[in-house]
Amino acid sequence: VLDPADWEAFRALAHRALDDAVDHLRDVRSRPAWRPVPEDVREALAEPMPLDPTPLEHIYERFVREILPYGSGNIHPRFFGWVQGSGTPTGALADLLAATMNPNVGGRNHVAVHVERAVIAWFRDLFGFPREAGGVMTVGTSAANLIAVVVARTRALGAGARDLGLQQQRPMLAGYASRSTHGCVRKAFEISGLGSRALRVLPVDGRHRLDVDALREAIARDRAAGIQPFLLVGNAGTVDVGAVDPLETLADVAAAEGLWFHVDGAFGAPGILAPSLKPLLKGLERADSLAFDFHKWLHVPYDAGCVIVRDGELHRAAFASEGPYLTRMDRGLASATPWFTDFGIDLSRAFRALKVWFTVHEHGARKLGEVIEANVRQAHALGALVAAHPRFELLVPVQTNVVCFRYRPDGLAEAAADHFNDELVIRVQESGDAVVSATTVGGRRAIRACFVNQRTRDEDVPLLLATIEREAEALLGARR
Ligand SMILES: *Cc1c(COP(=O)(O)O)cnc(C)c1O
Repeated sequence: VLDPADWEAFRALAHRALDDAVDHLRDVRSRPAWRPVPEDVREALAEPMPLDPTPLEHIYERFVREILPYGSGNIHPRFFGWVQGSGTPTGALADLLAATMNPNVGGRNHVAVHVERAVIAWFRDLFGFPREAGGVMTVGTSAANLIAVVVARTRALGAGARDLGLQQQRPMLAGYASRSTHGCVRKAFEISGLGSRALRVLPVDGRHRLDVDALREAIARDRAAGIQPFLLVGNAGTVDVGAVDPLETLADVAAAEGLWFHVDGAFGAPGILAPSLKPLLKGLERADSLAFDFHKWLHVPYDAGCVIVRDGELHRAAFASEGPYLTRMDRGLASATPWFTDFGIDLSRAFRALKVWFTVHEHGARKLGEVIEANVRQAHALGALVAAHPRFELLVPVQTNVVCFRYRPDGLAEAAADHFNDELVIRVQESGDAVVSATTVGGRRAIRACFVNQRTRDEDVPLLLATIEREAEALLGARR
C-alpha cells in the first residue's frame, strides 16, 4: 500500500504545502519574473532513480528549495513573453481536488464525465454552435487542431479512410491557411498522413490577416490541377501578432467551395467575452470546428484545451472505436455513452473539466471577459507608448493583445539592430523585472509582449517599457 502510514503526519505536511502554495501565489509580484535554474540544481535533479523510500518531509523540502523557485514565470504579473495563461489560485485548488477524485474521464457513467459535458456545453453555446455539436477537452489547441484536421479528412475521404489510411487515396487533398498560422496546424497535417505540403501556406495583408484573393486563387489553381480542396483554417488570434483573419469572409469562401472551415482560436476565441473583441470574431459561429484553450486567456491552470465540432456525428465517426474492454451497457458504470474516448485520441483522461468548472463558477463569464478586456486595453496602451517614443518603433498595429516592436539604436545597420533587439530581450528576462520574447515580423527581429495575464495591472505597462529602456541603455553602454 502506498497510502501514508501516519495520516495525521501527512495531514500536517499537506496543510503546510497548501499554506506555502497560497503564499507563493499571494507574493508572486514581489519575486523576480524569472530566474534561471542554477547549475547545482540541474545536477541534483539528474540523479539516479531512487530505489528506497525518502521521508516525505525531505522530498517536500527539496521541492521548496530546488523546484518551486524556478518556474517559467507565467504566473508573474509582468510575464509578457508568450501567449501563456497565468492561472488562478482556485484553479490550482481544483486540480488538487480533481487529483483527489482521480477519475479516468475517457468515458463511463461517473460525475466527471457529466462535468466535462456541462463545461463543453457552456462554451458550445457561447460560440454559437448547435446542441448536436461534438466536443472534447484536450491537452491544448495543438491536439484540438489535430482532431479537427482528422475529422475534416475523414469527411473528405469517407469513413473508409480510417481503414485504408491514405495509401490508396485519389485525388489528393489540399488545405489552406495563412502564413501566420501556428506550426501545430502543419504538424497536424504531418501526423494525419496528409503531409505538410498538402497545407497551402498563404500570404497575409499588412495586419497579418489571410489574403482572401490569394486564397481564392490557390483553390482555383488546385482544382485546375485535379487536387481536391477540403479544409480552410482561419485564425482567431495569431500567435505572433494577435491578428484575426476575416472569419466571415472565410466562412463564405468555405461555404461556396464546399470546404471544411476550422478556426484556430487558441487564445483568441474566448475574446468573444470581451465587448471590444466580439465584433472582430464575427463568423466564428459559422465554423465547422473550433479549437481553443482554457489555459491561455481563461487562466485555467495547464493543461486544458478543447475542440468543438458542429456535426457531432461526424466527429464521433472519425474517432469512435470498439474493444471488449470498452463494452458499453445500458445501466451501471459502463453506460452514459457516447464516451469522450470516441471523440479524440486518448482513452485515459484527467479530470480537466473541474478546474474550468470552478473558474467559470467563481468569476462568472462576464468577469472573465472583463479581464480579457483589460489585457486588450493594456496592449493598446503599450502600443501607444511605443509609437510615441523616439527610440522605439511599432512593427505592426496592435489588433488584440500582442505588441511587436523594436528598439532603434543610433547608427546600427538593420542586421546589427536585429541582434541588438535579441540581446535586449534576453537581458530583460535575466533582469527578472519582466519577461518579453523575440519574434520576426516583416523580416525584422521584434520584441514581443503578449497580454494574456490576469495579474497584469495598468501600471505594469510603463514599468515594462522603462525596464526595456534601462536594459537598452545598459547594453549600449557596454558596447561603447
Ligand atoms: C498556443 C497556440 C496554439 C497551440 O496550442 P497549445 O495549447 O499550446 O497546444 C495553437 N494556435 C495558436 C494560435 C496558439 O496561440
